Amino acid sequence: MNVQIVWEQYKTVQDSFPNLVLTFEGNKYFIRGELHFIAQFMEVPTEEAFLIELELPITYPHSLPIVRELEERIPDGFHKFIDGTLCLGAPLAMKITFSNDPTLLGFINKLIIPYLYSFSYYKRNNREFPYGELSHNAKGLLEYYMELFQVCSLDKVLHILYHLSIKKIRGHLPCPCGNDLRTRNCHGTMLLGLYEHQDTFEFKKDFTYCLQYIKGELN
Ligand SMILES: [Zn+2]
Ligand SMILES: [Zn+2]
Repeated sequence: MNVQIVWEQYKTVQDSFPNLVLTFEGNKYFIRGELHFIAQFMEVPTEEAFLIELELPITYPHSLPIVRELEERIPDGFHKFIDGTLCLGAPLAMKITFSNDPTLLGFINKLIIPYLYSFSYYKRNNREFPYGELSHNAKGLLEYYMELFQVCSLDKVLHILYHLSIKKIRGHLPCPCGNDLRTRNCHGTMLLGLYEHQDTFEFKKDFTYCLQYIKGELN
């Protein structure tokens, strides 16, 4: 981890969110404190505040921070992992969003606040999601990939993920989406672009996870 990058990025966080404090504990950096923001509910701006913690992995900014909400206001049924950390979105979606503004402030503004906003909205408006609901875990991942690849079946998602996981995206071969087109005239450019955000190992992980989920569904 580049310590200087962390401190420089933290300074801009502090300008926007003075209650967030950077600390170094047990070999890791944490940013902790009250995150204040204004959200619009039914055209009415409302102030929201959550006590949160960001844990920066040693590989930051290559890996993204892990986020916790410290007052247990967000129930387990909402997007949370078993260890209590927040599920801010499908991993690839998060990486793509983060790559547009790869800073701690960008991470807070583009990933944490939309998540918290979405939760507040969900609580206030009879549990309707402002941006449409995305299911959790494997199901959510599959839905995300279906939309990203613009395909309509789980088989096709799996097939494309498999090809991504073995890095077999070749322009002259038939496209893994199952169209009769060559890859270069179909998903080629789009799929190759994804390697900027995620490597074969991570696609393999997503593929295995989705496959296990689908097998479980069939049982
Ligand atoms: Zn989730
Ligand atoms: Zn295709």
